[in-house]
Amino acid sequence: MSFSLGSFSKSAPSGEEKKVKVLVLGSGPAGLTAALYAARAELEPVVLTGMEFGGQAALTHTIENYPGFPDGVGGSELGDLFQRQAERFGAKVEFDTANSVDLSSRPYKVVADNGTYLADSLVIATGARSNHLNIPGEVELTGKGVSYCATCDGWFFKDKRVVVVGGGDSALEEAIFLTRFATKVTIIHRRDSLRAGKVLQKRAFDNPKIEFIWNTVVEEATGTEKLALLKLRNLETGESTNHETEGLFIFIGHTPNTQMFVGQLDMDDLGYIHSNMYMETNKPGVFVAGEVADSHFRQVITSAGMGAAAAIQATHFLEKES
Ligand code: NAP
Repeated sequence: MSFSLGSFSKSAPSGEEKKVKVLVLGSGPAGLTAALYAARAELEPVVLTGMEFGGQAALTHTIENYPGFPDGVGGSELGDLFQRQAERFGAKVEFDTANSVDLSSRPYKVVADNGTYLADSLVIATGARSNHLNIPGEVELTGKGVSYCATCDGWFFKDKRVVVVGGGDSALEEAIFLTRFATKVTIIHRRDSLRAGKVLQKRAFDNPKIEFIWNTVVEEATGTEKLALLKLRNLETGESTNHETEGLFIFIGHTPNTQMFVGQLDMDDLGYIHSNMYMETNKPGVFVAGEVADSHFRQVITSAGMGAAAAIQATHFLEKES
């Protein structure tokens, strides 16, 4: 990533309870845009980055559909730009992770690795994480051939054959990216038609390095030191086959990072936080932005837009109190 750890602020020391007007949880496009807007409202927001600065967008090699970048922009570069822009207006970006929240009364208490915060308002932008296949061998071989991030691990598969699982935009986008390194990318999809958008579909179908195996699931990953073999099953015929590969990239959707808020905020069955069009949750002064509340759009631009809306509403909320 292009940002430097030196550019992050020092967190509140342990034991000290730091009072903030707007605390933003998460540093993806939603969180950093919320910070920009709250900073421009002179609310001196603090952003707790979480473990993955820039969120999922930062793991994307090139973002081609964020307006203003006609030639595309690197995911981590965009995160860096978001951070710089928010900091220019006074946002503090702290490399820290929230572990628990108490939303029973205001100010809301957030306990992070490096300190405790008392926040008049919260913008929750903790994003989502990659789903796992939950097959035998997946956990043991993660980092040894099994991956959820082509940008992070693609280089290790130079001149090798790899498998991608999934039929959505992520699977196709990452498969196309992997053709930079791999000699062959086999996309294994459980149905015979793709969920991905037409532009990506055409690009994937036209790419001579990409092949598809349809109506098929991966049932097991095996290998001693590293991944060597996948056991596949055709869902139409029931036939099982073995597929040799050193790389298995899994892109089968996401789960929102909302465990901390269970029992405190209204959510749907999948854990996405309920909000209205003003990004308000069922707790006053607690707003959401990005993929914690959006299982539908999941775009950098929509997450950034939700971040802006959440911060504008947080500003109105705090103004009414002053
Ligand atoms: P997604 O659209 O939910 O697609 C997930 C894919 O994984 C689907 O094809 C699904 O199969 C398959 N799948 C799910 N569970 C599976 C399992 N247990 N075993 C095998 N296959 C499984 O997720 P996504 O691709 O991560 O995209 C998420 C959102 O982000 C979408 O709205 C997408 O448009 C957006 N996105 C956009 C871009 C872009 O615009 N460039 C890039 C990335 C993501 P089925 O199709 O059979 O359900």
